[in-house]
Amino acid sequence: MTHSSSAQESQFPVSAAAQALHTKLLTLDSHIDIPWPDQKDAFDDTPARRVDLPKMQRGGMSAGCFVAYIGQGPTTDAGHAEAQSQCLAMLDVINQMQGTRNGLTARVCSTVQEILTAHADGVLAVIPAVENGYAMGDDLALLAQFRAKGARYVTLTHNGHNVLADAAVHRPSLGDKPENYGGLSALGRDAIAEMNRLGLVLDVSHASKKSMLQAVAASRAPIVASHSCVRTLCDHPRNLDDEQLDALKAGNGVIQITAMPAFLKPKPDEGKRTANVADFVDHIDYVVKRLGVPYVGISSDFDGGGAIEGWENATQGVHLTQELMRRGYDESEIAAFWGGNFLRVLKAAEDVAG
Ligand SMILES: [Zn+2]
Repeated sequence: MTHSSSAQESQFPVSAAAQALHTKLLTLDSHIDIPWPDQKDAFDDTPARRVDLPKMQRGGMSAGCFVAYIGQGPTTDAGHAEAQSQCLAMLDVINQMQGTRNGLTARVCSTVQEILTAHADGVLAVIPAVENGYAMGDDLALLAQFRAKGARYVTLTHNGHNVLADAAVHRPSLGDKPENYGGLSALGRDAIAEMNRLGLVLDVSHASKKSMLQAVAASRAPIVASHSCVRTLCDHPRNLDDEQLDALKAGNGVIQITAMPAFLKPKPDEGKRTANVADFVDHIDYVVKRLGVPYVGISSDFDGGGAIEGWENATQGVHLTQELMRRGYDESEIAAFWGGNFLRVLKAAEDVAG
């Protein structure tokens, strides 16, 4: 099979130093969607996917969090039952993204040690996760089932409130008021306690500001914003403002800047909004200046809407590495952005779970 499409790869010149560093690092993308229904194509290089295992391998990516994403629907028994079964089925598919095929090897990993071992073995690490607490419906027992299928984080909400918490973006078509709870519900607090017990990291991307701040306070383990950007640079309700960034740091958490143009750049007065790798790294710079290097990382939201000029699929991550080098970050700092910081949060959650 041939798979050298230069259009898919970079038109940007990449320095030998950037390529060498990128190849050496443990590079982790903390938020990648999977196609649904499943196409059984994760081991194939297909134009339909921005991330598949061959693109990860060619792009020098070491690890990715693949999410079972459940769109928000009605908070009824029937809606919850459907969300639960779809999420479990999607986690099963993510668990099939392992083995050796087409000349590459991948392994599902659900602990930091497993991820480090996969990297040392030269094996791609697939880390399952769940996007939208709606996937548990109103049954806390589902969280243990998600964990048993390897999930490492659960995103509290998507767009639209669920029975755990208010979302940043409400959905009047689903009957949402601007706020249903003023943050977390009582069940949402119970869910956070259960996630702490299980070693499931709480992801606050998509949550409302009140939900996010209450979640930081409620969680015994550090939290993550698995795919969010900086509100001061781009005033979108999905982004974190300075108060939220400070709270994230106080809880020893991490924000994973994401490749979504609408979160990276304000809409221009005319013309189409575009964003590029430099815009992305502007958000990293902002978090570094406000909080420090340990509190920011990298996510794509590929196959869930993410893509920017210069980072359009998993083969192009080297451009981020090159831009980070150009801004003066050293190897240890770039390693922290590309996965070290996120792994610190996973490990802390493992320690809290005991
Ligand atoms: Zn999302």
